[in-house]
Formats: sequence, structure tokens, C-alpha cells
Amino acid sequence: MREYTEGTRKIIGKMICNQCGKVWTAENGKETEDWLCVDKTWGYFSGKDGERHSFDLCEECYDRLIRGFVLPLTVEEQEELL
Ligand SMILES: [Zn+2]
Repeated sequence: MREYTEGTRKIIGKMICNQCGKVWTAENGKETEDWLCVDKTWGYFSGKDGERHSFDLCEECYDRLIRGFVLPLTVEEQEELL
């Protein structure tokens, strides 16, 4: 979950992991750690039609999540973006 700097909805002030509650404070609106951001709008063929769900996970909670997968996730190396 994200908390925005007072008075704006665009500058991130703080990130909180929805799973463990870990808090990161952004510096000048920029993230200092990487995390998993999920934003899903459920469709007609789900039991949540029309609901938008979003949450953020820290890297440790992400690692815990994927350890529960039956099939391994796909990992590809990405070239640095310049
Ligand atoms: Zn966490």
C-alpha cells in the first residue's frame, strides 16, 4: 500500500508491505527499494466482477509467496534501460 505526500496523489511518501507491514520511506518521492505492485481489476468471469484490488509486497514477502508455487515462475534477465 502507498501513502502519498500530503497535498498530492502523485508523490509517494511511504510504502507499506501489505503482508508484513514493513515500511519504506521514499526519498523525494522516489523509491529506495523495489517491491511487487499488484493492481488487478476483476472481470465478469470472476466472483469479484468490477472490483479493483491492489497491494504491494516487499521482496522478502514476494520470495515467500513464490516459494508456494507448484510450478516455478519464469525468470529472464533484463538488459539495463538507459
Ligand atoms: Zn513484506
